[in-house]
Order: sequence, then structure tokens, then C-alpha cells
Amino acid sequence: MYFRSGNQAAHTSIALDGPSGAGKSTIAKAIAKDMNYLYLDTGAMYRAFGLYAIKNGVDFSGSWSDKGNEKKLISLLDSFDLDVKHVDGVQRVFVNGEDYTDFIRTNEVSKAASAVAVVSAVRLKMVELQRKIAAGTNVVMDGRDIGTYVLPNATVKIFITASALARAKRRYKELLDKGDDSHTFEQVYSDMIERDKNDSTRSFAPLTRADDATLLDTTNINLEESIEAVRSIILSRLGLE
Ligand code: C5P
Repeated sequence: MYFRSGNQAAHTSIALDGPSGAGKSTIAKAIAKDMNYLYLDTGAMYRAFGLYAIKNGVDFSGSWSDKGNEKKLISLLDSFDLDVKHVDGVQRVFVNGEDYTDFIRTNEVSKAASAVAVVSAVRLKMVELQRKIAAGTNVVMDGRDIGTYVLPNATVKIFITASALARAKRRYKELLDKGDDSHTFEQVYSDMIERDKNDSTRSFAPLTRADDATLLDTTNINLEESIEAVRSIILSRLGLE
């Protein structure tokens, strides 16, 4: 047991932000399990809407910054009912009652998620749900804008990053491990760079480090070391060291 409750605020929230492939979600899951906190993967919510849009005929094959789909995306929000459930400690996302969880990790959905995440109306709907889920509970939330926008008063904020090359290598390995060899490493790498650019340059709640977030660069450390580093930052921020 690494964490004990002290005389902190009634609820503790831990915001982990950073670009994709930096290890955020694996780290967040491990920390949440350790602390017996709820883990909320906010990327899965944007992915769910991205997949819903694909299923409803939105074409994301064009430029990443293509604004042509915006109107259609906004109209789709009306019929998009998202539910996030935790089944045996594992987060599952349901859209209009249908379980999307196993279909949102493809490269196509990654691109769609990043494209829909640019639209303010989409973000506002997601953020409302994220805040609702976090209210009244101890939570570890990972995403892009948690420390800057969703939970600006989070108890602990950590910005986890790594070089684009290191992140693309991890993402490529992940796809191969899942049996998906339909992409070359070069494609995965260039998609990673495009996604970073898209996430960092959008006008509303872009990917950026909060002023009061601790920076962790995982380029040269493995997952176990990254988890230990995050654990130690949290302990120190909570005054438990
Ligand atoms: O974290 P993950 O790679 O699953 O996120 C998918 C996409 O969703 C990101 O590339 C980003 O565009 C978007 N996202 C976001 N804000 C969040 C979480 C994810 O814009 N809080």
C-alpha cells in the first residue's frame, strides 16, 4: 500500500496530461489501482464519438485540419448518448447502449478522435460528462486538457511526455502486438506528428502543460520507471513522503 489517506481535501483528483504514446494511460491505470481511485480515460470518449461519426458517414480521410465536417459533427452530437461504465475495474464506453470499447483503438479512430476533438461543441459535451464523473470521488484522469481545463483545481497535475520518435515506436509495437500490421512505421510516425500538431494547435483547450503541472519525460525510461516516477511525484505533492 503506497498511499494512505491523510488530512487532505475530501476528494483527491490527479490530472495526467500529455501527447499520445507517452505512457499516460498505462501509468494512470496502475496508479488508480494502487490508490483505489476511479480511473477515467478521457481519450476513449473522443474516440467513441470519432467512431460514431465514422459509422454515420463522416469522412476523416482528408486533411487533419479539415473543417468541412464540423457542421455534420455538431448535428450528430444530438443523437450521441455516451455512457462510461467501469466493469470489474475496466472502463467501457457505450454509445446509445452499444459497447464501443473494443473498436476504438485503431489508427483510423485515432485520427477521427483527434479531428472531432477540435470542435468546441464536442469538447463541451465531453467535459461536462468528465466533470460529472469526477465529482464526489477520488479520481485519476488522463487526457490533454485535464489540468488546464477540465479540472483546473486538480490536487496533483503531471504532464507526461516523450520524444515523438519514442512515442511512435511504442504505438507501432502496440499495433503489432494486437496483430495489426496494416501500417508501416513511417505512417504511424507521421500520424503521430500530425496528431500532436492537431492537438496542440486547436484554439479551444489545446494540449499544453498547465503552469502548475510537474513535467515527466519518459523518452529514456521504461514503463515501470515511469510509474515509479509518477508515484513519487504524487506522494510528494500530497505531502506523504
Ligand atoms: O488519449 P487518446 O490517444 O486516446 O486520445 C485520442 C484523441 O482524443 C487525442 O488525440 C485528442 O485529440 C483527443 N483528446 C482530447 N482531449 C482529451 C483526451 C483526448 O482532445 N482530454
